[in-house]
Amino acid sequence: MSETSGTLPSAPSARGPWMRASRATGLLRDEQAQATIFARMSALAASTGAANLGQGFPDTDPPEPVAEAAVAAIRGGVNQYPPGRGEAVLREAIAAHQRRRYGLPWDPDTEVLVTTGATEALAATLLALLEPGDEVLTLEPFYDQYAAMIALAGGVHRTVPIAITDDGAGTLELDVDPEVLAAAVGPHTRVILLNTPHNPTGLLLGEGAQRALLAAAQRHDAVIVTDEVYEHLVFDGFAHRPIAALPGAAERTVSISSAGKTFSVTGWKIGWVTARPALLTAVLGVKQWLTFVSGAPFQGAVAAGLSLPEEELSRIATDLAGRRDLLVGGLREIGFRVSRPSAGYFALADPGPFGEHDAAALAERLPAEAGVVGIPLGAFYRPEAEPVVPVHGPDPRTLLRLAFCKDRPTIERALEGLESWARDR
Ligand code: PMP
Ligand code: GLN
Repeated sequence: MSETSGTLPSAPSARGPWMRASRATGLLRDEQAQATIFARMSALAASTGAANLGQGFPDTDPPEPVAEAAVAAIRGGVNQYPPGRGEAVLREAIAAHQRRRYGLPWDPDTEVLVTTGATEALAATLLALLEPGDEVLTLEPFYDQYAAMIALAGGVHRTVPIAITDDGAGTLELDVDPEVLAAAVGPHTRVILLNTPHNPTGLLLGEGAQRALLAAAQRHDAVIVTDEVYEHLVFDGFAHRPIAALPGAAERTVSISSAGKTFSVTGWKIGWVTARPALLTAVLGVKQWLTFVSGAPFQGAVAAGLSLPEEELSRIATDLAGRRDLLVGGLREIGFRVSRPSAGYFALADPGPFGEHDAAALAERLPAEAGVVGIPLGAFYRPEAEPVVPVHGPDPRTLLRLAFCKDRPTIERALEGLESWARDR
């Protein structure tokens, strides 16, 4: 307006790198950043009172000793800046946990960094390692932050699809071809960004695929970055195996995890990085300018969590597996085709049997029609990606991701809503 009237603009343009992050996630509209699908769907759940099987946060409390340690820390004066790499007690607990569980001998003083959630760890790692034009390889679907951060850093996002197929008896199965994965690594690949256990599918990347990726990373001198935030939430006798534990992998791997999912404290935002000193200080070289340090009173509490007996950690997983069975069994009885993931927080449901083939539109209607919020799986694909032509299964963009990290009454309420929704169709 000011330009047409011949005076100077009244406000500067807001253009900038943020637009790349928004565009890469399909969230740039009218020159503005839209809220993420998780934030938007949780707001919809709050405003409609629908059961929120959308955003992946639990509605249960943390283990008592973890909660009590945080309260005691605040009352006890642990309220000022902690050391830049994190409180020693937490760095030592992280190192001890990885040694005990995976045989990984990280030095707590030089090879462990505490961050503001896995989110900051991922952001700092990608900003630290990527030059404009460097390629990053991920699976697809992928956690949305990856696309945003790769774009913000000026990187190029390459993907390998997870095949989602129907076994013919109502179960959706997940698979990645290790050879295709390894062949996707090339001379321009700077980072292989692996997420296992995987969001949104719950896929556990097998040892064969991990070995093939490591060999490809060594061949092309790529860094492996792993997102292992669901490391403890593995069911049915399966186990998470970090790629860093493979011979020769630790030298080129930045491993990332977080307390949020394991201890039901997603609002605390305490995560961590383990890596050899050179890679770790590269990440610190960005982290210290993003947040400087991370949540002091929560660090000792997370250390208490990581020091819980193994039986307590497996009880957390067993309890979650029971809620997976409740959701998956209920969805199947209603008539959805559904995945039965061996890890993580989420099941995939195909509403195709009810004549629904556009999950994005369905997710908008379901709160009103069934009292349920879910996330359309399309949110985990690149917006510009070619439509996937499924061979033995549904188009992934027709699927919904439903979270089972919710309490039983919430899951039961969602199933009741979906049952009457299905009956009316
Ligand atoms: N990676 C994945 C795969 C996730 O699902 C999440 C949880 N939202 C994060 C990273 C972020 O973890 P945090 O809440 O610790 O930042
Ligand atoms: N990781 C959680 C999910 O996938 C939520 C994270 C977020 O809201 N950014 O639902």
